[in-house]
Amino acid sequence: KLYNQVQDLKGSIRVYCRVRPFLHGQFNHLSTVDHIDEGTITINTLAKNGKGRKSFNFNKVFGPSATQEEVFSDTQQLVRSVLDGYNVCIFAYGQTGSGKTYTMTGPKDLTEYSKGVNYRALSDLFFLAEQRKDTFCYDVSVQMMEIYNEQVKDLLATGISVPDASLVHVSSTSDVIDLMNIGHKNRAVGATALNDRSSRSHSCLTVHVQGKDLTSGNVLRGCMHLVDLAGSERVDKSEVTGDRLKEAQHINRSLSALGDVISSLAQKNSHVPYRNSKLTQLLQDSLGGQAKTLMFVHISPEPDAIGETISTLKFAERVA
Ligand code: ADP
Ligand code: MG
Repeated sequence: KLYNQVQDLKGSIRVYCRVRPFLHGQFNHLSTVDHIDEGTITINTLAKNGKGRKSFNFNKVFGPSATQEEVFSDTQQLVRSVLDGYNVCIFAYGQTGSGKTYTMTGPKDLTEYSKGVNYRALSDLFFLAEQRKDTFCYDVSVQMMEIYNEQVKDLLATGISVPDASLVHVSSTSDVIDLMNIGHKNRAVGATALNDRSSRSHSCLTVHVQGKDLTSGNVLRGCMHLVDLAGSERVDKSEVTGDRLKEAQHINRSLSALGDVISSLAQKNSHVPYRNSKLTQLLQDSLGGQAKTLMFVHISPEPDAIGETISTLKFAERVA
């Protein structure tokens, strides 16, 4: 309750930045992150004169040693608000390899400790629903979709594109994990090892919650979209052609459409340009109004990623 009041005062868009650690086997070069202080991250832009420092402000910045549990901690309140009938969007943004999937899902060899936001959000959701079972009766169902080249694919159906993606009823976290595995397999169809489609499409796990108040009979509806966005890196137009160029243009266009929507909501503009991409059309009911948005923006610490790091931070600062 208090959180909702605080959110209403501060606006309902929060942006968190997360810095990936150096990976095993990488030489321990100098990180481009100069320092982190609560919500401020200072980047060393590696300018030759040594004066290249630039700071960016967010609601919070998680350094390379932040645990999955710490990163999730504020998300708990959003899960609670879904059960109270609010719509929530959680995004992972960043260049390929910066840790988006790690934050949302976790590493390949998943453990209790390394589980990402998706698992934690769902187990909290079922836990809270169980706690409230004397006053509310909850019904939970999920959808999984992928947006690739501005086309929506239902990852839980055997068919291809559909206007309304399959809604599957679930009653436990393990039901959802089974569905996520099916969705993951369906997503991989058509992708080759060299041609990893997951970095060039947006994937969205949507959880619909319907809660019936057992005393009044009133029904509350809320939903939560958990979105692992396509890699934000700019491709060099002189180097790619054909399908690869088309993919890149679709990604650039949809990510900037998302940025436009969130920043116009943050500025409380009267016109919000939802129609400019499939992603923002799909999420329209959960962006703006009473809905709550959380964006995890990811950066890689390597010096050769500095260009992407700066454009990621600029994007994020625009929506914060
Ligand atoms: P993206 O989805 O943005 O392309 P990934 O999540 O696949 O990036 O991360 C790239 C690699 O870095 C993976 O091997 C992943 O396990 C690892 N990684 C990412 N973030 C972290 C982190 N916070 N701690 C440890 N390893 C991480
Ligand atoms: Mg990924």
